Amino acid sequence: MEAIRRIKGTQDILPQEVGKWVAVETKIRQTMNTFHFEELRTPIFEKTELFARGIGQLTDIVSKEMYTFPDRSKKLITLKPEMTAPIMRAYIENKLYALSSVTKLFYIAPLFRQENPQAGRLRQFHQFGAETLGAASPDADVEMIALSLAIYKALGISGLTLKINSVGDPACRPAYRDTLKNYIRPHLNEYCSDCQRRFDENPMRILDCKNETCSRLNEEAPKISEHLCDDCQTHYDQVKAQLQKLDIPFTEDPYLVRGLDYYTRTVFEITSDALGAQNAICGGGRYDLLAEELGGQPTPAVGFASGIERMLMVAEKQGLILAEENRLDVYLVAMGTDATREIGFWLHQLRAAGIRTERDYLGRSMKAQMREANKLKTRYVLILGEDELNNNIFSLKDMEQGEQSQIPFNELIPTVKNLLTK
Ligand SMILES: [Zn+2]
Ligand SMILES: [Zn+2]
Repeated sequence: MEAIRRIKGTQDILPQEVGKWVAVETKIRQTMNTFHFEELRTPIFEKTELFARGIGQLTDIVSKEMYTFPDRSKKLITLKPEMTAPIMRAYIENKLYALSSVTKLFYIAPLFRQENPQAGRLRQFHQFGAETLGAASPDADVEMIALSLAIYKALGISGLTLKINSVGDPACRPAYRDTLKNYIRPHLNEYCSDCQRRFDENPMRILDCKNETCSRLNEEAPKISEHLCDDCQTHYDQVKAQLQKLDIPFTEDPYLVRGLDYYTRTVFEITSDALGAQNAICGGGRYDLLAEELGGQPTPAVGFASGIERMLMVAEKQGLILAEENRLDVYLVAMGTDATREIGFWLHQLRAAGIRTERDYLGRSMKAQMREANKLKTRYVLILGEDELNNNIFSLKDMEQGEQSQIPFNELIPTVKNLLTK
């Protein structure tokens, strides 16, 4: 019979890889904790409407990439493609604003998008991120940037560039959009088809286009940073001043706009020189308009999201060891029927004392058992043969030093524990 294979664009995280993931997740949680962010876990699926309203019907995510299907009662549900809308939904639904005027949340979650699989872009992928809800201050934007950088630093990732921009707000963006459209309009037919489609709905995203012709046409495009209203300008200036004060280097990218519609004022992106064209490992910004869009009270908000698979790619290219190999402390080798019968007892005692222990289950030869212990990179081997059994002792072999010694049964646990703490 033909074997069933996993769905395209998904991956199995195998035992030898899991240590890395756990190490990354642990570092993320520790750093989030230091910055006083609390974890929120939301369901894997949501009503489709949440994303249609929260991300925007016209974005690529909603129009092309979501896993949407009717459940048995014919209601449309969607596997979550991003976390900001679910977090905001949970914040409103659970009235988290009533508990504290500023709510700081983080997540680590699998997300789903039906993209064309390519390096670091899977259909089930994983992100971590954070959101601060209820704070309009530019200091909240800077905290978000500092937090994301602190996580990469904790993991040992270097060679990162922070890019920032302001995308304005409803007070200044409409006029800028018109200015931008006037610049693009005479050459619109030279732009790629995606850009032509974006022209009416979201012309600022044209600035983001990676198409070579489009980037060339955009070279002289008007910059939103030169069209900000006073409030947006002040906010942006304060973000930059605070970053300088914290000694966080940044570059201003006047054409950084981010893919989603709900961003206001600050947007930022962190890129790695270890990645190719798709070099962003983190994106974030302020989205003061989303809460109302989802039926909540006006709530200023800022957040970021970072792809874990891409981050792992960077770590690998930089040769970082994220997790220690999971080594065995003890391998129990038994020779003969009586010893084999006895060994289960000692296995249980050693494990009860917190010592990572394994044994052979296949009745293999001494040589095969030693080979297995070696393969498992075991620190110590305890041998129980007929002689040992008669004398109530174990023979101990130090697999690193090659030395052999003998341990009486009644001293086994404290002796092994002692050896392991050396
Ligand atoms: Zn284009
Ligand atoms: Zn403005």
